[in-house]
Amino acid sequence: MNYNTDVLIIGAGAVGTAIARELSKFQLDVILCDKNDDVGGDASKSCSSCCSTESTVTPFTLESKLAQSSRPLFYHLCEELEIPINFCGSITPVLNEEQMKVIPSMQEKAFNNGVYDVEFLTHDEIMELEPNINPCNLGGLYSPRDAQISQFMLVIAQAENAVANGVEVLLDCRVTGMEVKDGKIETVNTTKGDIHAKWVINCAGLYCDEIAKMVGECDFTVHPRKGQFFILSKDTPVKVSHTIMSIPTPTSRGTLVIPTVDGNILVGPTAEDLQDKTDKKTTKEGLDFVARNALALVPGLHMEDTITQFVGLRPAREPEGYNILVSEKVKGYVGISGIRSSGLTVSLGIAKYTIHEMQKAGLELKRKNGFIKRREGIVKFSDKSDEEKAKLIEKDPLYGKIICRCEQITESEIVQAIHRPVGARTVDAVKRRVRAGMGRCQGGFCSPLVIEIIARELNISPEEVRKRGGVSYMLDK
Ligand SMILES: Cc1cc2nc3c(=O)[nH]c(=O)nc-3n(C[C@H](O)[C@H](O)[C@H](O)COP(=O)(O)OP(=O)(O)OC[C@H]3O[C@@H](n4cnc5c(N)ncnc54)[C@H](O)[C@@H]3O)c2cc1C
Repeated sequence: MNYNTDVLIIGAGAVGTAIARELSKFQLDVILCDKNDDVGGDASKSCSSCCSTESTVTPFTLESKLAQSSRPLFYHLCEELEIPINFCGSITPVLNEEQMKVIPSMQEKAFNNGVYDVEFLTHDEIMELEPNINPCNLGGLYSPRDAQISQFMLVIAQAENAVANGVEVLLDCRVTGMEVKDGKIETVNTTKGDIHAKWVINCAGLYCDEIAKMVGECDFTVHPRKGQFFILSKDTPVKVSHTIMSIPTPTSRGTLVIPTVDGNILVGPTAEDLQDKTDKKTTKEGLDFVARNALALVPGLHMEDTITQFVGLRPAREPEGYNILVSEKVKGYVGISGIRSSGLTVSLGIAKYTIHEMQKAGLELKRKNGFIKRREGIVKFSDKSDEEKAKLIEKDPLYGKIICRCEQITESEIVQAIHRPVGARTVDAVKRRVRAGMGRCQGGFCSPLVIEIIARELNISPEEVRKRGGVSYMLDK
């Protein structure tokens, strides 16, 4: 099939979906395409989920500017689209005199980034805020506005809202080539057919260099910087209520101990430069490194309460730095690259900035009447009181059937996840939307039931149900 559109956005991660939602406010035809079977991105769904004030980014850069302008946008967005966010604050404890020497430069950086509320607290103040932190600390930096966000819902909610406002989402749609003629993109070739677009925005993360090459606008490379993580069970006895950060390294923020919005403790990541863009393997060395650093921050952590481990790949650009290019050479091409380790936090600013740059280059923005700014999330049974639960079951008896015992997820929530705009088509997509399979047993109990529900609701056979797209069938065919 062939498509015609005003704007084609390549990549449905945090950046692409933020742009799609923003553009859906205007009288434009917009297509958002992704090579994956679901929205959510690659890096976006496997990151540390910190929505921070970005006091650690290099000051006076585009990244710094966008980080600060992104910040207030989250307050509205999370409220309008029901995206879970917890303004828990962060603490960077100082564990020895050597680390203490770094503190003045970190404070100066924060100040130069316009983050004035980062303060150095004493040992006693830190212990009062976070009793499980290493008691040997000599004090620490406290950043009260740092937050944790649901990285899944940030992307899914914006995609759902964009669709409600007319954006078309094409999944399993890989861009394979572009035909450029007379300084203009004539056709974008994809695995779902050809797309003719007046504007093409490349938000392909780790693969944005490959897309950029297709239009001859590539003076950079992108390689993966691997981050390995542990997730601890919700019932692990030693937890933290702030994000605990180690002193940053030149390539990353260092190891973090993170209280996720869902109640788990996330521990990681590493920062390992690789060449292979498909290497998502955890390694013993990497995980040992993370565990050692995490225990230095919070010595009582029960690493044996790990329920799973995973890898995320940061798109590291060379030369480094955020780059948002509205091409003069190829009319209508917009390349976004270098969105490496702060992209979740900065995504809303990137969307606003990119669209503004496109407008300066000739994109006509006429506001739509009737933009739907709100999106309701799926009502979470486990959060409700007994009385509210009874009411939910009365309205929809499927709320009375628990499918995922660990997370107390009901059949109704799973069915809703499948039938929403940009609905779940795979077991992992259900998991990201309603957390069935995210608990201690990691889907050991509920996966067969989830397969049955997906098959029934999509009218396919259980053998056709996949874990995450491609040929990842859950059952032998
Ligand atoms: C370990 C780790 C920790 C991080 N921690 C944080 C953090 O705490 N806070 C923070 O703000 N940021 C963090 N980040 C960075 C953040 O995750 C990224 O900067 C951000 O997610 C980038 O979003 P994106 O949309 O540009 O890319 P992605 O999420 O990678 O999305 C790109 C999309 O493009 C699609 N695509 C690629 N090629 C094609 C093609 N040919 N055709 C169609 N589609 C294509 C992909 O399938 C993918 O869905 C972290 C990243 C990692 C990996």
